[in-house]
Amino acid sequence: KNKVIAIDGPAGAGKSTVAQLVAAGLEYIYIDTGAMYRAVAWKALRENDTVFLTDDFIIKTVKNMDVRLQYADKTTKVYVDGEDVSDHLRTPEVSKVVSQVAKLAPVREKMVFLQRKMAENGAVVMDGRDIGSNVLPNADVKIFLTASVEERAKRRFEQMMKKGYEVDLLKLKEDIENRDKADMERTISPLIKTSDAILLDTTSMSVRQVTDVILSLASK
Ligand code: C5P
Repeated sequence: KNKVIAIDGPAGAGKSTVAQLVAAGLEYIYIDTGAMYRAVAWKALRENDTVFLTDDFIIKTVKNMDVRLQYADKTTKVYVDGEDVSDHLRTPEVSKVVSQVAKLAPVREKMVFLQRKMAENGAVVMDGRDIGSNVLPNADVKIFLTASVEERAKRRFEQMMKKGYEVDLLKLKEDIENRDKADMERTISPLIKTSDAILLDTTSMSVRQVTDVILSLASK
């Protein structure tokens, strides 16, 4: 059966790493919803020529924007108005404003509409903050992935170092905490564990272990 698997959780819990492995294991497609909100943030930042991004400017930006996800050869590409922006989405600048972007109703309406359309035929693993609670409430498997904030900051740190970014571990931890707080406290579709989601605390689990748990839940 072509199942739908929803993976939610706070920043840096390993959602995208695990979701991609689960998708590969089941030969499903993987949909990274965070990348879609990041794409909106990226475009708003690029077009903005004032010091602060206003909500009105973000809303104007999202209305005139074409966002597309393409998943092929186990990699996700994000196109904004036809331009491949995949390599520009994980920068500290984008991370800083993405929660402001993601709390706006017109932004969420457009992204959620696209996400549901992409999941329409099943055989998908989708990760984000509101997948089990709002985007795909009827998902076959719902996972809430978490880990201690220290562990999440450490993992992000190692990932960034590998890519050659200069980062400060404490600063990273602070950014993660601020983003989690904004994501949990927003009015529309906040980050929340639904009662039917399975909680996986991955603080002392390996990527392989987490992946295997989800694969076995999906095979039931
Ligand atoms: O998963 P990632 O860290 O790339 O997500 C970036 C941001 O996008 C989150 O901090 C959150 O503000 C927003 N987001 C969201 N809903 C989703 C996925 C991401 O609000 N389903």
